[in-house]
Amino acid sequence: MKHSLDILPLQSWIDTGDKPLIIAGPCSAETEEQVVSTAHLLANTGKVNVLRAGIWKPRTRPGEFEGIGSVGLQWLKRAKEETGLLTATEVATAKHVEEALAAGIDTLWVGARSTANPFTVQEIADALKGVNVPVFVKNPVNPDLSLWIGALERINGAGIKKLGAIHRGFSSFEKTAFRNEPMWDIAIQLKTIAPELPIINDPSHICGNRELIPYITQKAMDMDMQGLIIESHIDPSVAWTDAKQQVTPAALADLLDNLSIRHAAS
Ligand code: PEP
Ligand code: MN
Repeated sequence: MKHSLDILPLQSWIDTGDKPLIIAGPCSAETEEQVVSTAHLLANTGKVNVLRAGIWKPRTRPGEFEGIGSVGLQWLKRAKEETGLLTATEVATAKHVEEALAAGIDTLWVGARSTANPFTVQEIADALKGVNVPVFVKNPVNPDLSLWIGALERINGAGIKKLGAIHRGFSSFEKTAFRNEPMWDIAIQLKTIAPELPIINDPSHICGNRELIPYITQKAMDMDMQGLIIESHIDPSVAWTDAKQQVTPAALADLLDNLSIRHAAS
């Protein structure tokens, strides 16, 4: 499969030394206190580069918490000011892009449901024209490599060269141990087609529960993925979204300490 991606190496836009890029934070921003205190605990581990928090949440069915909205951007901003962590959030519309950039969010990601929709991705890409911000594109919910590459090409076509992919697994009607099947071969194909593209792993959304996360994380490192995005909450049991898969900052530090990393991310 041909592709046309013009990408800068990850280390030229986020210096992680010889370690993998670690993005961590709650699935959703819930309260200012929750975002800021989680950020402090994550920063204190000394192992996290970027604080993540969902501000606008793409819920599969209506009637559930759909994100705190724009006010949460200010909480991320405060967390950054107090901890020095870079910040990241999901954008799904042009308005999200504009608001996130106006609030000084450092890194954006396109969620799995958005990646599956070329109109949405193009809208996001158009809003990113002339902007120099790192963007990660999650794999689409369905196991379609072309759709994933197409979304990366649309964002790259807007001039975003600080571009990466997030492997978060693929939904399936079959119930397995995983919330989203990893289907590693799709990530391997992407790596083969676009070796210059940084790929990071999202064990939280693959696993759907805390217990499996160490196994998936280690496998991602064994495949030389360049980083991880992991959901972390001060008190996962009371999280408003994705409670089963979030880990405390202390558990995250422990997980990262126990990873065996073959060689430096490049
Ligand atoms: C998330 O990162 O919280 C999220 C909604 O992820 P995904 O798009 O992978 O479902
Ligand atoms: Mn989540």
